[in-house]
Amino acid sequence: MVAQVIDGKAFAAKVRAQVADQVAKLKEENGITPGLAVVLVGEDPASQVYVRSKGKMTVEVGMNSYEHKLDVDTSEEDLLALIAKLNNDPAVHGILVQLPLPKHLNEDLVINSIDPAKDVDGFHISNVGLLGTGQKSMVPCTPLGCLMMLRDHHGSLSGMDAVVIGRSNIVGKPMAQLLLGDSCTVTIAHSRTKDLPDVVRRADIVVAAVGRPEMVPGDWIKEGATVIDVGINRIERDGKNKLVGDVDYASAAERAGAITPVPGGVGPMTIACLLANTLTACCRANSLPEPEGLTA
Ligand code: NAD
Repeated sequence: MVAQVIDGKAFAAKVRAQVADQVAKLKEENGITPGLAVVLVGEDPASQVYVRSKGKMTVEVGMNSYEHKLDVDTSEEDLLALIAKLNNDPAVHGILVQLPLPKHLNEDLVINSIDPAKDVDGFHISNVGLLGTGQKSMVPCTPLGCLMMLRDHHGSLSGMDAVVIGRSNIVGKPMAQLLLGDSCTVTIAHSRTKDLPDVVRRADIVVAAVGRPEMVPGDWIKEGATVIDVGINRIERDGKNKLVGDVDYASAAERAGAITPVPGGVGPMTIACLLANTLTACCRANSLPEPEGLTA
């Protein structure tokens, strides 16, 4: 079997176009422009790149982008004061604090100071609890993007066996909750899992979110399974820098029914879902119907 490639880049462009349409409608019919505030503390080069592209895409879909760049030695008090100001600003519907934060800042404290209704990353403890109990919440962007691609490919996921490799709060755990919400039978595998190949071989859906280059070989993949590769790993091969996933793409593509490439799979969906979450937050804040197909 040769796998169908799930084109995350094209799918993300479709999601962004859908968001842009809804934003135009909100402006025209309700005089509202959704706004996303992104807070960056320090000068981590990767974070700077992410924040720049988030800001650019926010503007491209017609939303207002508010960037707050703070010094690396900003005090917790000052950061919390900025978040309190953004929480109270009616023009701001989504707030994202770029992680990781410098070591002297308490990430949990900072994230939990964001108004949960504006927590477009879905990391606030209230949103984690709401997702875990199957209630309306803000859903973390990367797993939401994975879910959208799976739903698009399969229609219903009900009754499918899904394995999520990785148990992080950002990807693995919320991904498992979302799959459970769509009635999959879910296994969460992690660094202490015994016989990972056997666990993966049983899965109709494999979501790999580990951060280890090409650790899942094709012969772990059940014939016809759908493989969602969240991993982004920089490696050097043949003297060149390359991005690879957690799955060995070439061998997995020979057995899978469908697979996301790296790059061009899950990655582009993450920012598209951030924009979708900002739109959802804006609609909720204004008691307007939520956009269809853009939430969990
Ligand atoms: P993390 O380091 O927080 O978690 C990794 C998880 O992998 C842990 O739960 C650990 O138990 C598990 N693990 C480690 N070694 C293992 C092994 N040998 N076998 C099985 N499980 C093992 O990472 P994260 O934040 O969840 O990110 C995972 C990967 O996804 C990284 O490559 C990251 O860059 C990528 N990522 C991509 C996006 C995106 O937009 N595409 C977003 C977030 C993260």
